[in-house]
Amino acid sequence: MYDEFRFLNVFFIRISMSNRFKIFQKNISSFCVIISMDKISELNGGRIIDTRLLTQVQSSQILENGSRCVPAFVDDICHRCGTRVQTDIFKGKKVYCRGCLNFGKIYLDDQLIITNNEVTFGQQSFPLTWRGQLTEMQRTISMKLIESFYQSEDHLVWAVTGAGKTEMIFPLIAEAIKNDKRIAICSPRIDVCIELFPRIKAAFENTSIALFHGRSDEEYHCTQIMIATVHQLIRFEQAFDVLIIDEVDSFPLAGDIMLERAIEKSKKPNGMNVYLSATPPLHLLNRVDAKNLNLSKMYQRFHQHPLPEPKTHLLFKPSNFTKINPRLKFRIEQLVKLHEKFMLFFPRIPEMLEFESNLRKSFPDLKMVSVSSKDADRINKVGMFRNDEVQAILTTTILERGVTFHQITVIVIDADAKEFSKTALIQIAGRAGRSKDSPDDEVHFYYNYYSRQIKLACDEIKSVNKQARKK
Ligand SMILES: [Zn+2]
Repeated sequence: MYDEFRFLNVFFIRISMSNRFKIFQKNISSFCVIISMDKISELNGGRIIDTRLLTQVQSSQILENGSRCVPAFVDDICHRCGTRVQTDIFKGKKVYCRGCLNFGKIYLDDQLIITNNEVTFGQQSFPLTWRGQLTEMQRTISMKLIESFYQSEDHLVWAVTGAGKTEMIFPLIAEAIKNDKRIAICSPRIDVCIELFPRIKAAFENTSIALFHGRSDEEYHCTQIMIATVHQLIRFEQAFDVLIIDEVDSFPLAGDIMLERAIEKSKKPNGMNVYLSATPPLHLLNRVDAKNLNLSKMYQRFHQHPLPEPKTHLLFKPSNFTKINPRLKFRIEQLVKLHEKFMLFFPRIPEMLEFESNLRKSFPDLKMVSVSSKDADRINKVGMFRNDEVQAILTTTILERGVTFHQITVIVIDADAKEFSKTALIQIAGRAGRSKDSPDDEVHFYYNYYSRQIKLACDEIKSVNKQARKK
């Protein structure tokens, strides 16, 4: 959430720098933004704005432009994020919502403007500029998604890692654009959004598109396609005709009621939600059973090869025994000699850093980087690994999903740690074998205790491969 708060600040700073607005800043709760008349329309698209951030003249201008004004709270429930405030804990102080505090304080007596969501972008007959080919299975699922679009029904795509989910949604996005509809593609993870943005942009070259997340310095403007973290949806209401949620089961979305609510309210009443996942959460599968969510399954990767099945190794001694456990050291030695790229996954940052230090001593010539959620330079480091500038990358679960590398060996150290759930292990194993040239990349799980999560992950990967063979 810190990232999102930073985004809010950057949003205002950028406004000032670009000379498009003038800001008179007293403090964060009394920002007063002067918006030029011709820029008002850029705020359109179901954006929620606190009226205290606007002058009265601006509020009137926006309202004349088809927007509406609502109380910030009804029955102590915040209109922006849906959190109920406990008024009694404020003891005479002004009551505000703590749920969405990071997007700016809103007080009990505030008014919110929800900008006009009836936006048009002009029709395009052939919006898709991607020239690739879908496999038959991908094409079948993409057609099902288009059917759901015309029926205004939600749809879950349960596809194995490396199935080509992004390409599968291209025909749906194209169909929506042809109908002058607005699309949002969201993920709980900033890294996934950053990876998606250039791919979507290249596939729809003639369509307006923007990327918003806690680390982006792009100011909000209404585009036909928006790529954003799920957090950003807190600031929207009935904004999107097609709302695609990638990696729906990943942290921090999984189990976060406020974010799940944000997804529901950001969709237009006749819009559709598309959920993409290799490991869908139970609440979505329950909706499938209740027949209020359509389901498409894809057991096969786009290159038709099976998922690499993890090889499991009992270590007998801790992974840091004699600095680096000899069994692990032997494996790494082989990879270094053969000049093969590899990823090492760790459950926690301190263990990773300790291992990195020992690895550097044992293999002084090995070029490597390490990344974690705390690493501000991780996008750059991931790029170095992708571009073959380093042979190894050490990581926490931050890279368990949404990233694609070619020809790599994946090693999980302390796979029995509580941080490695079944889902995390399946996602991590899914980093291997994604390329057509090396579909049989190896995956190794090292542990001291064969945990239930390891067993469940291995069983599920085998079961998916079995299903794929039947097709
Ligand atoms: Zn709130």
